[in-house]
Amino acid sequence: MQDAKTTAAPADAAERRSKPAVVVYPNATLPSVDMAMLQAARQSLTKLDEVIVPPRDGRAFHVPKGHFFRITSIEGPQVGDLNLWNADDLSERFFSGKTRALHATHLNTGDRLWSTLPSLRPMATITHDTLGWYGWDEDGGGIHDVIGTRCDPYTNRLLSGGDYHHCCHSNLARALGAAKGVPAREVEQHVHDVLNVFMCTGFTRDTHQYFMKASPVRPGDYIEFFAEIDLIGALSACPGGDCSASHSSDEAACYPLKVEIFATESALLTGWTPPERNAYPRSHGEKG
Ligand SMILES: [Zn+2]
Repeated sequence: MQDAKTTAAPADAAERRSKPAVVVYPNATLPSVDMAMLQAARQSLTKLDEVIVPPRDGRAFHVPKGHFFRITSIEGPQVGDLNLWNADDLSERFFSGKTRALHATHLNTGDRLWSTLPSLRPMATITHDTLGWYGWDEDGGGIHDVIGTRCDPYTNRLLSGGDYHHCCHSNLARALGAAKGVPAREVEQHVHDVLNVFMCTGFTRDTHQYFMKASPVRPGDYIEFFAEIDLIGALSACPGGDCSASHSSDEAACYPLKVEIFATESALLTGWTPPERNAYPRSHGEKG
């Protein structure tokens, strides 16, 4: 933590601060996304399944590769915490931190959800977002962040001393456990940092602390994804509701979220093939 009161600035402080900001991962060389193809494919969707995620709870769902899934606000402003796994290998899961580094703090149409090392490949591509108009507000806030982690009962215990069992971490663990037929505690190590669907967040300008504000989502709004590989997803309807005031408690008004799975006509997926795992040979400089 900086201590501006006791640390004397050197004579060349202004000069040192004046260096240009350089984007860490210029993403122009990322494998390109054929958005025109995906936009055409999403015009011809057939609904296969629907899952309603109850308030303060979680549900898992399957999305075959080459299919679309959509998360929709249905009864009131509600934030969702999304986890994704390779359906055949839970060790490959959504990598929030690298997705943030490759794209931005908040995701939008055309951005991709990348998987953990050593696979590091796109798991899903965002194909539509009815909140795309929001952009950045005057506080620097945006929608669908990959900067938060997920509310969890351990941090809640640390900060408040109490136990709360419907944090997103627990909701996601129960959802994955139900999908696998095992208790939540047996799969909770697979729960990971999330895409904060519909959540409005940023960092305060003065102390750079993570902030949230009331989500602008309204019933009918949705975010839609194209599954690049076979996926298990889990979604938690966060106990924070629209995350305007509190979380990790039963105080906020909470609403369900709807997840829909759609097929498209495979003939429309011209030129698309499921991405391979990253080609780095994993030698890490060792011989043999
Ligand atoms: Zn939450």
